[in-house]
Amino acid sequence: MVEARAVIVNSRGLHARPATMLAKLAARHQSDITILKGKREADATSVASLLMLVASQNTELTIRASGSDAEAAVAGILELIAGGFNDDAVANNPKLPAAPAVPQRKTKTTPQKPMQKIYGVGVGEDAVKGEAQMRMPGETEVRRYKINAQQTEAECERFVKALQTTRAELDELKARAHKLPGSAEIEPFIELYRNLLDDPEICIKPREIIRQRKVNAEWALKERVDLIRANFRRIEDAYFRERGRDIEHVMQRLLSAMDGGAEKKTRAAAEVVIAEDLDPASVINLRQQGCRGFITEAGGGMSHTAIVARSLGIPALVGAAGALAAAENGDTIVIDPRHDVAIIRPDESALSGYKRAQQKPRKKTQKRISGGGGIKTKDGEQVFLETNIEFPAEVGEALRAGADGIGLFRTEFVFLNRDAPPSEDEQFEIYRDVLRRTSPLPVVFRTVDLGADKINKADADNRRAETSPLGLRAIRYCLAAPELFLDQLRALLRAFYETGGEGKILLPMLSSPAELAQTATLIRHAREQLRALRKIDAPPPQLGAMIEVPASVFVMRAFAKHLGFFSVGTNDLVQYTLAVDRGDEKLAALSDPLHPAILHLLAATIDNARRANKPVTLCGEIAGDPALTPIILSLGFRRLSMNAHQLASVRETVGGANIRTLAAARRRLLAAPSPEAVRAVAERETLN
Ligand code: PEP
Ligand code: MG
Repeated sequence: MVEARAVIVNSRGLHARPATMLAKLAARHQSDITILKGKREADATSVASLLMLVASQNTELTIRASGSDAEAAVAGILELIAGGFNDDAVANNPKLPAAPAVPQRKTKTTPQKPMQKIYGVGVGEDAVKGEAQMRMPGETEVRRYKINAQQTEAECERFVKALQTTRAELDELKARAHKLPGSAEIEPFIELYRNLLDDPEICIKPREIIRQRKVNAEWALKERVDLIRANFRRIEDAYFRERGRDIEHVMQRLLSAMDGGAEKKTRAAAEVVIAEDLDPASVINLRQQGCRGFITEAGGGMSHTAIVARSLGIPALVGAAGALAAAENGDTIVIDPRHDVAIIRPDESALSGYKRAQQKPRKKTQKRISGGGGIKTKDGEQVFLETNIEFPAEVGEALRAGADGIGLFRTEFVFLNRDAPPSEDEQFEIYRDVLRRTSPLPVVFRTVDLGADKINKADADNRRAETSPLGLRAIRYCLAAPELFLDQLRALLRAFYETGGEGKILLPMLSSPAELAQTATLIRHAREQLRALRKIDAPPPQLGAMIEVPASVFVMRAFAKHLGFFSVGTNDLVQYTLAVDRGDEKLAALSDPLHPAILHLLAATIDNARRANKPVTLCGEIAGDPALTPIILSLGFRRLSMNAHQLASVRETVGGANIRTLAAARRRLLAAPSPEAVRAVAERETLN
């Protein structure tokens, strides 16, 4: 027997993807491999039992193997653990919200006819309206019956067939998902489901139960999964607890396959689906069938289902206790994810608030609109609409959506989920490709905004991670790590030089002119290095400052002397002005972008930029909210940068806006003493 100890180093611990990697590696070896956390044991080939260890970061594990290749197996596992499983983009995606508690189910009440509101966790941006299609629990209720000894092998055979059908179904789904936007985030989930099908707990144990207890395959599977689920329910960690649901989803698929109807293909296309729970794969199917949105009683904002819905742009409400009892087939439903609510049978006045609610599923792959020229308001004022991206792969969608450029490339995402920061050459190639694909439209490259909720692996491993939003983040981080900053600056300057494209550099979280002076010195230094080392005479870049710390609004004049443009990050401006940690869901209600203080800061930013004769873009999340577009235009913004899927609705709102009327309302908006009063002014003046 070979035994070794190892400590989990990756920040998210032994979650689904690392567990899958470990199980796959173990399955490639002949030896019996057990992983131990204290006294708790897990079969190393079983993702389910590995997840049940709840091995978070810094957990010490014992790896025990016996068999012909025990040494190699243990060495391989040690290497995997020491390498932090090369943790993936989804795990570190800072956009994912923290896990809200999975809500308790309410007891059913008799369905009521009047309008009813159901609350949960909203997923997505836009409100949607449609007809309800109920998916009542119990559709896959499992019957138990005895079989005789001669029938056991045929029953096992039936179970194996269901495994094969489900595997084929998931493979097909993966191929289809590959063509969808957001596929990079979806594929790992399908992969996890695919691997769970090969998990001995799911694919072997039920056959043992069939043979030993002479029961039908459905019951054998359910019995096993119920046991696993019960163990998962006891787990305190929300992430690991939620993974129990993935196992249940896999069971539902197998049960459906044994029932002969994979994914119930005959079901009519639904507008809004209401279900106890949905698995991510079903969400992909719903999207492809043209479903507008869905509500589930179970699940939280961190569930895979919510993550997939978000990346596919399907609005949803999850964790909506009572939804099944409240609605009936055919009821009109409005899902308003921004306000975490669904309205069942809305009355006229409730409906009037959702005039813009989508009637059709959003098409993420719209016909390409050519961007670059901006859009004219009704009275002829030009407004530019750009997109925010995190990954180079998003450029295509931005262009198809008709963006006038990339208004914010959050380059720190290039630095996440890897053992070491990318080299200058690697960055150069990424930036060059983004510029080439976007050319002749401009691209604003924001220098790395690491720290707070975006920690790269090297820092996490060396315990240098700065998680406070008030700490060593963004430009502060870069100035404290000049070599890393210089690598990025040289890569950017080379990409601008080589492509001749319109690349710009944006500095995050500037709060004082001294930081700008230090950055200017480093840029000069980077240009000298390029001259000396590569014989490249890179011209000085167009440089911009993010206005996202309140202090920066008041020193814009000093900034303007050295800068070409400004970009307002309202996500952080709200956080720092209202002293509300943007990652703390308990404070979400306080984080109101219509707080008068924010409006005044935005107005001052516009005025300061105009005085300095510098363009200013708004690139925080509010830029993509069409309900706020009139207020933003009213304050004076003419350049907005948002997620690509928000462009179409904002474009429509801008196209219908009358700037003269909006500008006249500015004073009244700024005179409003509270967010409620701001909303009242906006409503009175029909600004939204
Ligand atoms: C912002 O703060 O508004 C912004 C656009 O930057 P980020 O969300 O990446 O902090
Ligand atoms: Mg910011």
